[in-house]
Amino acid sequence: MYKELTIAQRTIMTPGPVEAHPAVLQAMTNRILGQFDPNFLAIMDEVKEMIKQPFGTKNKEAFAIDGTSRAGLEAALIALIEPGDKVLIPAYGRFAFLLGEICERAQAQVKYVEKEWTAPFAPAEVIKEIVAFQPKIVAMVHGETANGQMQPLAEIGQYCRAKDIFFVVDMVATYGGVALSVDDWCVDLAIAGTQKCLSVPSGLSLVTYNERVEAVLNARYQKELGLSKTDRNKRHIMSNYLDLSQLQRYWNTERINHHTEATSMIYALHEGLRMLLNEGLDAAYQRHLTNEGALVAGLEAMGLSIYGEKATKMPTVTPIFIPEGVDGEAVREEMLHSFGVEIASSFGDLKGKIWRIGNMGYSSRKENILHVLAALEGALLYQQAPISAGKALIAALNYYQKTT
Ligand SMILES: *Cc1c(COP(=O)(O)O)cnc(C)c1O
Repeated sequence: MYKELTIAQRTIMTPGPVEAHPAVLQAMTNRILGQFDPNFLAIMDEVKEMIKQPFGTKNKEAFAIDGTSRAGLEAALIALIEPGDKVLIPAYGRFAFLLGEICERAQAQVKYVEKEWTAPFAPAEVIKEIVAFQPKIVAMVHGETANGQMQPLAEIGQYCRAKDIFFVVDMVATYGGVALSVDDWCVDLAIAGTQKCLSVPSGLSLVTYNERVEAVLNARYQKELGLSKTDRNKRHIMSNYLDLSQLQRYWNTERINHHTEATSMIYALHEGLRMLLNEGLDAAYQRHLTNEGALVAGLEAMGLSIYGEKATKMPTVTPIFIPEGVDGEAVREEMLHSFGVEIASSFGDLKGKIWRIGNMGYSSRKENILHVLAALEGALLYQQAPISAGKALIAALNYYQKTT
């Protein structure tokens, strides 16, 4: 009665989800193992070690949480927040407000610091606000997918560490595509996802944290509290499913029975991390930079302008001003239907003003960059947009010639 699925051929050049690596999809077809099968536990242990490398950390704790990156963000924030705690959220893009919304629901007292979205904060601006607000937690986004800007973290992290403030960072859109140094930047708790630069389907989030966070988790671990049930309910982490104090004990040698791990997704994550680490982190970061350079060269040759500060632009996201008089959504539809290429629109104030082109993981390949440039030029010319025709592909090819 029902037909089998038919899945269109696409070149996905959005900031996620991106194309899953074929080896990852292959790994997902492996047979299922019981969640406490020694074979599966050994895979989990290896995944834990591999997760740490792109984060740039020697933390003991790093593991995956079932649920997309948002689940990881929520698990991270509610692990530290008790009602009334002060959280400072410097916002230079849209995803900061997601952090804030999670904190508010956890009954934190949230203070946003806002600025124009075209550049990240100068660290001194954030430090000034920390001095004024005296928060327990500073929560920030490393790479703002919504506007393609990237925040320098080291100075803010060092200041937080010196004042015993927790520094929580969303690294979802940079993990695997940009060099990260969780330890050097004094990030206490970092969160990433799978469907961006790891080229694994969406469905897992990755976290790592240090002993400072572990001490909080141990103090809030339900079984250890030893209080009456009502008192315990005041202290323990507000979610059972996203309780890091339990998840940690599920992923380490205690192996408490928490949830049933998403077996096939763990296979996928293992393969995605294995592919990335075998390529070499530095080589992967360089590949993203080279493809970004070629993309920008092509776009500029077409006469398009890139949104935001150049020095702090993410290599993994390129926001472009939609030219005056052009219907941005009609161009995206043409690209998808006639060329099989997907690019992204934007959110909030930038909606209708910019497109965003992703350059992430397995989607970050020369043929994809040329494909997206050709499709964009074709769709724009078809709409009679005033662009320089016939230059983009040559500019990108020349860029590759020069740099590789
Ligand atoms: C994509 C993204 C998220 C949300 O991820 P989901 O996997 O969709 O839950 C959060 N933060 C940033 C910076 C992102 O790019």
